[in-house]
Amino acid sequence: MAGNRTLTIIKPDAFGAGKAGKIIAHLEAGGFRVVAARVMHLSTAQAEEFYGVHRERPFFRSLVTFMTSGKCMPMILEKADAVAELRRAIGSTDPAEAAEGTVRKLYAESKERNAIHASDSDENATRESRFFFAEAGTL
Ligand code: ATP
Ligand code: MG
Repeated sequence: MAGNRTLTIIKPDAFGAGKAGKIIAHLEAGGFRVVAARVMHLSTAQAEEFYGVHRERPFFRSLVTFMTSGKCMPMILEKADAVAELRRAIGSTDPAEAAEGTVRKLYAESKERNAIHASDSDENATRESRFFFAEAGTL
């Protein structure tokens, strides 16, 4: 059965531009509840570990530079079928291809500077929640 929690990050482009409040309001209006949240500036080592699955991709160094360029906002969100629902709510990786009304369509700048991250499986949601919130298992 699909889980009811997932991990999101408001990325440095959106956080730095003061869009965090609007994005959270948009997600709450879509039925998500914020379970945990923090504001932090990722180190290079943290960004490399978090996006480690993309280590061999040509955009990896640029992605790490972007993700360490300013503060970001990791959050655990709750909703029935949370992983699939949040992926739908954020839209395609490239905002040019994202559906109307999605977070990336509304707030992303480019395929790299695309405003928000969302876990892509229940397994990764659990792993990524623990990455940012040591207390995730008790929330
Ligand atoms: P995320 O994992 O951040 O939720 P995603 O699952 O939609 O995004 P991934 O394929 O996992 O997309 O890529 C991770 C991130 O790497 C993207 O969100 C984007 O910031 C960046 N990225 C992906 N593909 C490219 C690309 N071709 N050029 C530049 N940046 C890219
Ligand atoms: Mg991804």
